[in-house]
Amino acid sequence: MPGSILIADDDTSVRKLLALLAQRAGYEVDEAADGTAALERLRGRDYLVLLLDLMMPDVDGDSIVERLRSSVRRPAVIVVVAYPATGIEGRFEPDVVDAVIHEPYDVDMISTVIMSLAGAVQQKSVDDTVRTRTRKQQTAAEGFCPYCGYEFLPPPAGDNAYIRTAILIHLARCIERPELKDDRDLQRLVDQISDSLEKHFHPDVN
Ligand SMILES: [Zn+2]
Repeated sequence: MPGSILIADDDTSVRKLLALLAQRAGYEVDEAADGTAALERLRGRDYLVLLLDLMMPDVDGDSIVERLRSSVRRPAVIVVVAYPATGIEGRFEPDVVDAVIHEPYDVDMISTVIMSLAGAVQQKSVDDTVRTRTRKQQTAAEGFCPYCGYEFLPPPAGDNAYIRTAILIHLARCIERPELKDDRDLQRLVDQISDSLEKHFHPDVN
């Protein structure tokens, strides 16, 4: 599954070069020519990797790094500097800046760094999703709504449709559930927990 990469650099030629490399590696690319545009893009979408110029007009790269530190979901950050990276090492904490690249640009090295960091972010997001789903299934397997902890009543005897209907009715007004993007979203949530809940109420049925 390809993801997106954001390139924030006010130098058009550098930005185009990096965009080309990222696209050739199979990623969708968004560009930002200054810090304000970069922040706007970061708010609007989850990126795998941010290629970040430190010296941009308005909001500089350091401020963007600072803001990313407090966000839960953040891209891998590659800082791009136009000079050899003396004095750069140790300037950033490794928990926010994942790599530093500088002139002269080694095209193969940059592509490799982009791909490996993007891959790591993608894997982490998959792991998080699996962990969350497992936790939800466990909660449902104990007869509770995985979002708010509401306890579902046992189904009346012989009413096979009860469980899915009860989940649907509850989720429609559950205040803790995720926001719904469309009608199918609610159906998807029902599907996610109904198997576990059915097993809770009918443990003997396979
Ligand atoms: Zn609930």
